[in-house]
Amino acid sequence: MIPFLDLKSVNKPHQLAIQAAAEHVLTSGWYILGQEVAAFEHQFADYCQTKHCIGVANGLDALTLVLKAWNFPVDSEVIIASNAYIASVLSITHAGLTPILVEPDPYTCLLDPANIESAITERTKAILPVHLYGRCCDMASILALAERYNLKVLEDAAQAHGATYGKKRAGNLGEAAGWSFYPSKNLGALGDAGAITTNDDALATQLRAWRNYGSSQKYVTDYQGHNSRLDELQAAILSAKLPLLDQENNRRRMLAQTYLSGIRHPAIKLPPADQPEQDVWHLFVIRHPRRDDLRAYLQERGIGTDVHYPIPPHYQKAYASYAQLSFPISEQLHREVLSLPLNPALTDAEVAYIIDTINEFSKEWSE
Ligand SMILES: *Cc1c(COP(=O)(O)O)cnc(C)c1O
Repeated sequence: MIPFLDLKSVNKPHQLAIQAAAEHVLTSGWYILGQEVAAFEHQFADYCQTKHCIGVANGLDALTLVLKAWNFPVDSEVIIASNAYIASVLSITHAGLTPILVEPDPYTCLLDPANIESAITERTKAILPVHLYGRCCDMASILALAERYNLKVLEDAAQAHGATYGKKRAGNLGEAAGWSFYPSKNLGALGDAGAITTNDDALATQLRAWRNYGSSQKYVTDYQGHNSRLDELQAAILSAKLPLLDQENNRRRMLAQTYLSGIRHPAIKLPPADQPEQDVWHLFVIRHPRRDDLRAYLQERGIGTDVHYPIPPHYQKAYASYAQLSFPISEQLHREVLSLPLNPALTDAEVAYIIDTINEFSKEWSE
């Protein structure tokens, strides 16, 4: 049996370092906003080549806090791809703003710059490119539009730890970026954790206070802030794992390359292979018109898969007012996408077995 993702195996190479980090935090007697958080913030800012990193409780908070800090008028609009992860859409709503969904590029599954301009109104204030599956959005086009229309750009980098765009790292491409270190991400904690990266000094100062009740000094409250703190234990674990991130991303790239060259099936669409060094392959997502049949077939042969994601945001009950909208590209993606196992713990033999099994999938089901 090859599970879609076995976090126990993924964390196994880090076990000693994680245990040492936990021991260190335990005996330090300091558990919230101390040296471990400060150290991880420095390391992660360095890694992303940004001036600031602010640790927060999770990825949703990271995005929400930035959007709130920008203090746009109520009813302001934020443009996002209609196949984005639901947390990315929720962050816009939680900040009191309106998500404006636009069709993604059907090939990359990312925000399509060609669909942004027609969605811009006088209420539009920001664009939220989600670097879905570990590949950066077409930031040159997005940033050019943002400049032309005076919009902020908030990267959702929760699936793109270590991804690059040109010479820059994800997290250093817009005004700010939200990160998640949810356990299954390329850099994952052993619980919830998140961060914001930015080069904006004032924003960083405000967010540092906001994550901690709005206090820049103990018992002095400058803003009606939040409690969204990254804790010492998770920060120490993330610092222990960060040095191996590039190596793990390289392993993901190798496995992705093996899938890309090995899968030969007339009805399967493979993910884009044009940026092998830039993408970090958080997920390896293929497409098939009979996705559910393929998924069941693989399951019967001991191969676990997942679907990212089965229901588009505009069909979620939480966004009932969007239900009458139509996004054919996005809807088709949600029907067809299938994520194959891809993580640093996966073996070459497992990938070879998965490829052979996929290639044997009934050819008459090629639509
Ligand atoms: C995981 C994820 C989030 C949310 O992160 P949490 O830490 O679970 O709140 C947001 N956006 C994307 C693209 C994600 O993958």
